[in-house]
Amino acid sequence: MNNINGKTNIYGLIGNPVEHTLSPMIHNMLSQHFGHNLVYVPFLVEEGDLEQAIYGAKALNIKGLNITVPYKSQVIPYLEKTTTLANQVGAVNTLIATKRGFEGYNTDCLGLKRALVSDGIYIEGKTVIIIGGGGAARATAFLCAQEGASHIYLLNRTLEKINSIASEIMDCYKDCLVEPVILVNFDDISEDAPLVFQTTSIGLGSNSHHAPIEEKEFYQKIKIGYDLIYDPFKTKFMSLVEEAGGKSYNGLKMLLYQGIIAYELWNNVTVTEELSMKIYEKLKRALNHNE
Ligand code: NAP
Repeated sequence: MNNINGKTNIYGLIGNPVEHTLSPMIHNMLSQHFGHNLVYVPFLVEEGDLEQAIYGAKALNIKGLNITVPYKSQVIPYLEKTTTLANQVGAVNTLIATKRGFEGYNTDCLGLKRALVSDGIYIEGKTVIIIGGGGAARATAFLCAQEGASHIYLLNRTLEKINSIASEIMDCYKDCLVEPVILVNFDDISEDAPLVFQTTSIGLGSNSHHAPIEEKEFYQKIKIGYDLIYDPFKTKFMSLVEEAGGKSYNGLKMLLYQGIIAYELWNNVTVTEELSMKIYEKLKRALNHNE
């Protein structure tokens, strides 16, 4: 860690819980590489304390913050401004201090975009299926529309959520057809989809032996399956994709790049792919995975 002195800039993460976050590892490796005099600290913020935390952070001259679950949408009213993308997605995960407050960015979206490029996956002109209807699904769906997907199917347990995502996207991106489909009716999608994103929390933690769709016939249609979960490193969804002959990816690169992009915005630097991959390997080791 850097030697803390009177000129040390403070950055951090606001969320609940924050104990298991990998973000300090990303930011501390970057600050060591660039020789920046900064520290990055996780801040546990209790429900009801978010407004005080944001205004307090500004008053304490904190230069930038990441925002995680459950505050990515709740934080928006306390910001001075937000980028167009963050506004469309309705979620912010990175704050940059301005003169009077903070400006909100969505580097989850930008991080997923850079992760896809790093894995050689392109969306333009493609039909895409997104499983889920929460914050991560919204971010993924807006990214796919922005990147020129021609047709997006949204599959979720709760129809209302994907109905509203679909109409919001089609208002912004006139050339993109977005169709909401309730999860149990997944076989209404007759088209083959080259790319499927898994954005639900099924597959995480105590759910690790489950996938949102377990029926093998669904996976016959998939060439690439992209799970936003990264722990476990290979989810049940990813195994099902591979068993059907497709290629699968997890969400660790998305996590990596959302952090790297936040660091680049805060410090006005460019992080090379070589350095990004060094940090990626360290994150993998921290998760105890060598594959
Ligand atoms: P969220 O807003 O809480 O949404 C959760 C989604 O999971 C909803 O679509 C929900 O369906 C669905 N779901 C949960 N339990 C279900 C069940 N038993 N059956 C069917 N559907 C179920 O969460 P989020 O912020 O979108 O995050 C979702 C996942 O993305 C998390 O695992 C998170 O770790 C991951 N993520 C990863 C990154 C990264 O950097 N790699 C970034 C952001 C998020 P309903 O709408 O029907 O409730």
